[in-house]
Amino acid sequence: MTTEAVHYISGNWVESADREWTDVVNPATGETVGRSMRGTPGDVDRAVLAARQALPAWSAVPMADRIDVVERLAEGIAAARSRLADALVLEVGVPVSFGRAAQVGVALGDLAALVAAARDHVERTAVSNSLVVSVPVGVVAAITPWNFPLHQIVLKVGAALLAGCTVVLKPSEVSPLNAAILAEIINDLRLPAGVVNVVFGDGTGVGEPLSAHTDVDLVSFTGSRMVGERIMANAARNITKVSLELGGKSAAIILDDAPIEESAAQVLGSCFANTGQTCAALTRVLVPRELAPAWEEAALVAAAHWVPGDPAQESTVMGPAASALQADRIRGHVRAAIADGARLVVGGPASPDDLVGDAWVQPTIFADVTPQMRIFREEVFGPVLAISVYDTAEEAIALANDSDYGLAGGVWSANPQRALDVALRIQTGTIGINGAGLDVGAPFGGVKQSGIGRECGVHGFEEFLETKSIMGATALLGPTRP
Ligand code: NAD
Repeated sequence: MTTEAVHYISGNWVESADREWTDVVNPATGETVGRSMRGTPGDVDRAVLAARQALPAWSAVPMADRIDVVERLAEGIAAARSRLADALVLEVGVPVSFGRAAQVGVALGDLAALVAAARDHVERTAVSNSLVVSVPVGVVAAITPWNFPLHQIVLKVGAALLAGCTVVLKPSEVSPLNAAILAEIINDLRLPAGVVNVVFGDGTGVGEPLSAHTDVDLVSFTGSRMVGERIMANAARNITKVSLELGGKSAAIILDDAPIEESAAQVLGSCFANTGQTCAALTRVLVPRELAPAWEEAALVAAAHWVPGDPAQESTVMGPAASALQADRIRGHVRAAIADGARLVVGGPASPDDLVGDAWVQPTIFADVTPQMRIFREEVFGPVLAISVYDTAEEAIALANDSDYGLAGGVWSANPQRALDVALRIQTGTIGINGAGLDVGAPFGGVKQSGIGRECGVHGFEEFLETKSIMGATALLGPTRP
């Protein structure tokens, strides 16, 4: 097992000059299980320089060869599936079976969809009197969080490589071990030095100088809304392009003809999987007043499935929060909901009785939640569901849209056309009908304060390209795929 994460810069494993480390703590036990280098602005400068120097040659590599590299990257990840899942158990408490199937599995799906997008991409087209060509955006700074860490990294690194960009990746300091394994897989690809660089560290030492760097062309960030604002401000100093995948407070709308048990099980699945630490989790549910008692009862039954336990066990469905700090934040939101007058249906702020350690939280459901309560508005990033009632479909749509965020949503109805009519009116970047979840072939991202830009598939690939018009060159238009 890889337990030490050192920077990977210009094809070499390097340590920071001052050799400072950050511990990696297993949230299930509180034990230190590894350490990662705490990078510095000097490390960022070295990595950005390496990426800049590698850019001309890498961007000239034909698309077919770049596709080959990304397919080999996917093969390397598939071969390391168990090692990667074990690392996710250790550093973020992801249940091992969920880690292998969902966390590593989704990363492989991401790469397959990006490769398909790159294969179909037309690099030159004639528009009006011009030849329009797509060119790589340049040096990419990829800054990622800890909740689906591998998925979030490969969406950026895979798309950047396919587009002909070079990368400096800064993974979360909470989850460096899976990124260190990924760096080993990348090293085995024998890419030219500097095409992919990984600098470990925190927001202050690495994230800030990387997002403010004058020689970075795109900052692709996934994380909290607060840090997203900071990244945008840093990048604004150089008018650097940003893409931001931020938080959410997504609503599930249960229409009056929806199947009750099925929708309750699916909403809880979305809200509670990964210990609720999913940006697109459906954390608010809007239920017709007359169905509320039955839906609440069905949710209580479905909640019995979500028992927290040792993430290293194959049968475990819910691990701890990713850290004691995260668990503390979750408990704070639960207490705030109680103080604001929400009715506790199940769970609560105490740790589960049978589990020792600071990072354990109970899956929790609140009912009688109103838009004035903090639990209706604030992202918890933990397994906490808020049930609100409505009287008309119009009111349900207004409640769903009454949020600063606009990431995801869900609509349930026996009539798919009715569900679609509602889905079209919800102000979010994605929305699922009758339980449909993440589709890695379709664009993923948010509106309002959930972010800017899209990841996944064709749209995610195109974030890493610029278009350039060469006026008067239509006569020279050659084959569409040079
Ligand atoms: P975070 O914003 O605290 O950290 C994300 C990354 O930014 C980490 O690598 C961190 O080190 C870095 N960072 C921190 N401060 C920085 C600074 N000042 N400058 C530059 N970089 C800095 O988020 P987190 O706690 O790791 O993840 C949870 C958040 O991420 C939640 O809000 C969640 O909704 C969001 N998220 C969004 C998506 C999405 O696709 N929309 C996906 C997953 C998570």
